[in-house]
Amino acid sequence: MGIGPTKGTAFGKERTMPYILPDLDYDYGALEPHISGQIMQLHHDKHHATYVKKANETLEQLDEARDKSDFTRIAGLEKALAFNLSGHVLHSLFWRNLMPKGGGRPKGELAQALVRDFGSFEGFQKQINEVSGTIMGSGWGALVYEPMAGRLLTSQIYDHQSNLAQAGVPLLVIDAWEHAYYLQYKTEKAKFFEAVWNLWNWDDVSQRYAAARKMNLLVPETVEVAAKR
Ligand code: MN
Repeated sequence: MGIGPTKGTAFGKERTMPYILPDLDYDYGALEPHISGQIMQLHHDKHHATYVKKANETLEQLDEARDKSDFTRIAGLEKALAFNLSGHVLHSLFWRNLMPKGGGRPKGELAQALVRDFGSFEGFQKQINEVSGTIMGSGWGALVYEPMAGRLLTSQIYDHQSNLAQAGVPLLVIDAWEHAYYLQYKTEKAKFFEAVWNLWNWDDVSQRYAAARKMNLLVPETVEVAAKR
């Protein structure tokens, strides 16, 4: 008899499909001319939907592995979970980070923190565009809140989940996979990384920053450092 829920119990069954594809807050074509409606539709309905489906399937397979006490595929399942769940998280953020007629500059504490940690807004802009444009293969550029020092960093994420400093909270993410731009921008991906600056929803990013700053890793020094910043 194994430990934990068995298949068919409410606990075991109801938690097998926890991830849901979120609707967009705007129409597929609402981000044109910067991102085409065709890209948005395929990106959301096909690519993001697949990550959601596979994350759920992987959890089911982990349930089965526990039921059978057969963990021969555990390493592969863990890798699949990290990849697909991270894909779900990052795409969910990306859609909310964007808005029709967005762009401009952030205000308030986020604006101050960008200047504090990157020297200027332009410094941040150049850095994250370079981060996004120099990924070897598929990945994401991200602005993250790093709770140990209570500061902002950029991250260059490979695929959806590699090259991360642990505990960083993503606030703003740029999809640098070819599927994010290729139908419209072809080989000129730098133009896509410029175009997204017309779409950022800075209110969304600011709300994420405010929420992330409340994070407590239960390391006393961390809380003290973050509180001073
Ligand atoms: Mn994508």
